[in-house]
Amino acid sequence: MTHLLQWIGRLGDKTGAAARMSVNFPQSTADGLGPQRIERGEYVTKLTISGMTCHVRGGLHIAIIGSGSGAFAAAIRAVEEGARVTMIERGTLGGTCVNVGCVPSKIMIQAAHVAHLRSSSPFDDGISAQAPAINRKKLFAQQQARVDELRQSKYQSILESHEAIEWVRGQARFVDGHTLAIAGESGAERRLGFDRCLIATGARPAIPPIPGLEGTPYWTSTEALASATIPARLAVIGSSVVAVELAQAFARLGSRVTLLARSTLFFREDPAIGETLARVFRDEGIEVLEYTEAQRIEYIEEEFRLSSKHGELRADRLLIATGRTPNTRGLGLDMAAVEIDQRGAVVVDDQLRTSTPAIYAAGDCTNQPQFVYVAAAAGTRAAINMTGGVAALDLRAMPAVVFTDPQVATVGLSEAAAKLEGIEVESRLLTLDNVPRALANFDTRGFIKLVAEVGSNRLIGVQAVTSQAGELIQSAALAVHHRMTVDELADRLFPYLTMVEGLKLAAQTFTRDVKQLSCCAG
Ligand SMILES: Cc1cc2nc3c(=O)[nH]c(=O)nc-3n(C[C@H](O)[C@H](O)[C@H](O)COP(=O)(O)OP(=O)(O)OC[C@H]3O[C@@H](n4cnc5c(N)ncnc54)[C@H](O)[C@@H]3O)c2cc1C
Repeated sequence: MTHLLQWIGRLGDKTGAAARMSVNFPQSTADGLGPQRIERGEYVTKLTISGMTCHVRGGLHIAIIGSGSGAFAAAIRAVEEGARVTMIERGTLGGTCVNVGCVPSKIMIQAAHVAHLRSSSPFDDGISAQAPAINRKKLFAQQQARVDELRQSKYQSILESHEAIEWVRGQARFVDGHTLAIAGESGAERRLGFDRCLIATGARPAIPPIPGLEGTPYWTSTEALASATIPARLAVIGSSVVAVELAQAFARLGSRVTLLARSTLFFREDPAIGETLARVFRDEGIEVLEYTEAQRIEYIEEEFRLSSKHGELRADRLLIATGRTPNTRGLGLDMAAVEIDQRGAVVVDDQLRTSTPAIYAAGDCTNQPQFVYVAAAAGTRAAINMTGGVAALDLRAMPAVVFTDPQVATVGLSEAAAKLEGIEVESRLLTLDNVPRALANFDTRGFIKLVAEVGSNRLIGVQAVTSQAGELIQSAALAVHHRMTVDELADRLFPYLTMVEGLKLAAQTFTRDVKQLSCCAG
């Protein structure tokens, strides 16, 4: 090994650049040219550190804990790079997004949107509106069928078509920095050695320590999405993305919803977002109690009773949606010297490396934002790095979407966040009565706000509350990523009568009064 590394060093000196070589190293350990035996993981690390581009073929063994989006993205990339993968899952194949997260929630939200439009729309004078009868059992069956179909096509069939991915059912924990113990359903435990390991264990609903809550039949998002009925009265504790999305969906499907938020809605974001959404919710009949904490909860005669500073609130169902806690307890991370933060999240750098060289982490179990596309992008990059390449995850232009109606979408920095970073900014907020698409829709709730750096005029952040905000934000994300100025954005062609045209109009407000423009922003 020593000789080999010396040779690599000499090669690098001669060429003046990182060299490229192919190494066949099929077993977990091999005899080096020096006196010691070398573990393949250590070998790859040393080659990478020495500046070599190192594509490892011939059986690098990667253990992946979890089978969600982060895990699958990593597994697919790792086998493409020639590795052998063992994927360990204790629950349902596919993890959160497909089974109990993005997919079922977006189906339920869309059904609720249709129900809402049937009972109320801006065109009710010309199209008679009628409160629809909701058959939740049928809606749920439809939702679950699509979930099952996507789990099959996006997860199960991928396992079936990749021989190099072995799937193991069980609960994994670290024994040391190169070995896992896997407890199967029978309780029997087996050991699994690895060259590299990816922790992709996701997160679970956080449950606040409210007196009386434990032992009551409260819902988390999982039970709410699988409910066979729509409760007449629903109390929601929390102001997370999941809280606001499900609060509005249940309200539109017929529940009388009360939402208790410890602060304002979206308190970490631009204040205009929370103010707009709270107003929209109240207009729809959702009671939003800001700065309100449930002090005690009782469940008596199939009814929840919540005491707060507003007195007693009674509800048939209680949804707890106060964020998600990383699944790291019981993983034995201390045995492998993997560092976690105060929330229990695995600390990773932008290359998804943990504090232990052979161990990487991706997705909701880490200190990165909890979105499925972040988990998947992290998984892919972790796989590249685990197999000897170099890839970093850049989150500076990460779009985020909340699927309320109107939707909330953001990218980059808010005005306050930019100021905290010491960036001097100028911003413009365009109300939707200036956007032709919103006028044509007879729905001018919301705004588009642009944040630009003073001096360079570069766009560094966008916040939008509009219908279709999730679609328009990707254009904003590209503009932020490519360091466009607001003038460049204002100068682009945007199709007329689209919501994304609002971005151009908002950019134009930096230099002119959009009210003075003709119909199309030129
Ligand atoms: C209601 C809801 C709606 C959402 N909507 C969206 C959305 O619209 N857009 C979006 O981007 N994101 C959304 N998310 C978030 C998104 O679902 C997650 O960010 C994403 O699924 C995380 O993927 P992951 O791979 O990190 O973990 P997961 O998909 O959670 O997978 C982790 C897996 O690891 C397994 N596991 C844990 N510990 C062990 C162990 N010790 N041994 C073996 N297996 C283990 C778990 O059983 C689980 O299957 C939503 C989440 C929820 C709850």
